[in-house]
Amino acid sequence: MDKIEHIGIAVKNLEASNLLYAKLLGKAHYKIEEVLTEGVRTSFFEVGPNKIELLEATTEDSPIAKFINKKGEGVHHIAFAVENIEKEMARLKEEGFILLNEKPKQGADNKLVAFIHPKTAGGVLVELCQENNNKQ
Ligand code: ZN
Repeated sequence: MDKIEHIGIAVKNLEASNLLYAKLLGKAHYKIEEVLTEGVRTSFFEVGPNKIELLEATTEDSPIAKFINKKGEGVHHIAFAVENIEKEMARLKEEGFILLNEKPKQGADNKLVAFIHPKTAGGVLVELCQENNNKQ
């Protein structure tokens, strides 16, 4: 894995949290994007070479809605940049990690993503993300 690409934070209200994080980081978010298949609306902040991704649920059965019901707002996942997601998924599987998706899926920010089950990663939801070269 390369660098930490972003840290995902679950929020109840994206607009309110955009204001809070703009105050905290001293700069505004640079984009908002909805990922229909995941039931989330996201916004991104640049922090040096890394990003903060805020995630708000758009449906009641969204993973973010479930997370907030259980744990409240806060850090949801850590995403690592990888060069070859399929290869990295195969390597992690062989190491005994449980992947939440068998195949890479389309995530926000033009990325192919896959998640590792927190119960096999020390309680942390880990996301792998690879820059998607076939721009849509
Ligand atoms: Zn993410």
